Amino acid sequence: MKQYEFWFLVGSQDLYGPEVLKTVAARAEEMAAELSKVLPYPLVYKVTADTNAQITEVIKEANYDDKCAGIVTWCHTFSPSKMWINGLTLLQKPYLHFATQYNQEIPNEEIDMDFMNLNQAAHGDREHGFIGTRLRLNRKVVAGYWKDENVRERIATWMRTAVGVAVSKGLKVMRFGDNMREVAVTEGDKVEAQIKLGWQVNTWAVGDLVKEMNAVTEEEIDALMETYLSLYDVNTDNTDAIRYQAREEIALKKMLDRNGAKAFANTFQDLYGMEQLPGLAAQHLMAEGYGFGAEGDWKVAAMTAILKAMGKDGNGASAFMEDYTYHLVPNNKKSLGAHMLEVCPSIAADKPRIETHHLGIGMNEKDPARLVFEGKAGKGIVVSLIDMGGRMRLICQDIEAVKPIMEMPNLPVARVMWEGKPSLEKGVECWITAGGAHHTVLSYDVTAEMMRDWAKMMDIEYVHIGEDTTVEKLEQELFLNDLAWKLK
Ligand code: MN
Repeated sequence: MKQYEFWFLVGSQDLYGPEVLKTVAARAEEMAAELSKVLPYPLVYKVTADTNAQITEVIKEANYDDKCAGIVTWCHTFSPSKMWINGLTLLQKPYLHFATQYNQEIPNEEIDMDFMNLNQAAHGDREHGFIGTRLRLNRKVVAGYWKDENVRERIATWMRTAVGVAVSKGLKVMRFGDNMREVAVTEGDKVEAQIKLGWQVNTWAVGDLVKEMNAVTEEEIDALMETYLSLYDVNTDNTDAIRYQAREEIALKKMLDRNGAKAFANTFQDLYGMEQLPGLAAQHLMAEGYGFGAEGDWKVAAMTAILKAMGKDGNGASAFMEDYTYHLVPNNKKSLGAHMLEVCPSIAADKPRIETHHLGIGMNEKDPARLVFEGKAGKGIVVSLIDMGGRMRLICQDIEAVKPIMEMPNLPVARVMWEGKPSLEKGVECWITAGGAHHTVLSYDVTAEMMRDWAKMMDIEYVHIGEDTTVEKLEQELFLNDLAWKLK
């Protein structure tokens, strides 16, 4: 996990004299230090700025410092905002305007004009907000007392989202084989994806992967087998199949790391020279934070890597997922999601077990080993990125995952059962109307608000399907979006 940090830039002016500026700087430093103790990434106090040159300089530095994943601004006193124009027009990093105040209470006895001039964020943050709006800057505004837990949580989730931006802009995706033949929704404009999202999506020969697999040693496989045995139960006698997956994983990881790639896609239609479709191999790589997409779906591979990086500790509970089949019994309607092998064990309710089963789809000479488990219960989202032709659309639906209501003892794959919002049928109607794919990223620790902010930061269309969504409202929104994005 890369060590990211955020920069705290505080606005002021020289009108109040050096003592006030010193107080502001000391308080800002204290706030950054206190907040850094509870936020997922350090908030580094950089400057109390009272000139155009200071602001421009620190924003140029923020742009070029790879560690800096975004800036947080605040105006303790009044800070005339023309001095922010030259800097903010150069800004290339995510931007949070934190409208807060050092003191929680208005002190009845102590308050006088000196106190008012020192503690005038209510005034300063409005001037500062205007210039962000006037410049049409994409930014997040969070207002509230800096010690409030829910305010800190909002900054924390924004930080995770901003890290998703940094990961996206540096993301390389390796493709082994093309998209599955004739499939539409997994296609997309790779040039547009790189312009908007930063992704470098390129292809490598399956033959090169096989060559890499053949060079893997028995000792390397032994070591990875130990890791598998420490993490998972084994429910098969077919050790050779597991060792073969270890061989695949080691070869894939070497190629990914050598190329600086954090995501990959493959296809069952192109396994030339391989005995098994990577199952356990892809699953354990996902658990290690790599993105994956099946059937050549490089978009979902990239999104899996990004959502995982946005999650807890930079590798959260997010998984490549596919909508498979429905339970349509009244008052108990559920969606069942799975894939033919490759679901990330970060979302498992219990210890996954390694099994081997016949896989009819594709050119598998041998039964592939895979992890089988149930997904945990809890609130989550499913996310799909589609190419609308000329622009990307991100679709996000709220879901509630449940313990699967049946055992399904003959289903040989990992499975998750959920209730989509606003209901199964309405959710499906909205999803299909919006054009969402069957492949998604399912996440338990990335929220719809984070995906909305991420889409805004990447300047792509965002569609949310939640408790209050109706097909009628959604159709209206999509119609207006189409017009707006054509003009943009
Ligand atoms: Mn699929």
